[in-house]
Amino acid sequence: MLKIPVVLQQEMIDLAKRDSPIEICGYLSGNGEAAKKVIPLTNTDHSAEHFSFDPKEQFQAVKNARATGHELIAVYHSHPASPARLSAEDLRLANDPRIVYIIVSLQNPEEPVLKAFNVNAGAVTEVAILSSEGCE
Ligand SMILES: [Zn+2]
Repeated sequence: MLKIPVVLQQEMIDLAKRDSPIEICGYLSGNGEAAKKVIPLTNTDHSAEHFSFDPKEQFQAVKNARATGHELIAVYHSHPASPARLSAEDLRLANDPRIVYIIVSLQNPEEPVLKAFNVNAGAVTEVAILSSEGCE
């Protein structure tokens, strides 16, 4: 399970819409199962079908999260035109069983869908997203 405040879910959806049809990507930082902050990163691929992080921004994100007592608990990216599930490419790159992978799908722009997954040695498990109010 992952607790994501509604405002943070909206933040990811807004970013995804802003940059569509380019995929957006970034981290959620927080503690344990509670997300506290959205950390947008540049998609250095500038692609509608895949993303890459900027290693310098990645390093900075880790540093900033630690400075505020947070860890990076999830990686998110958008699917501007495809469903909220991990693509073959996403699966290939999902090599950390401790992190949650979030997809923001804008396939139906009227109803953005957020889904979260764990990947362990290629096996995908959906992680329930609990919408919490505000950041406590
Ligand atoms: Zn993807």
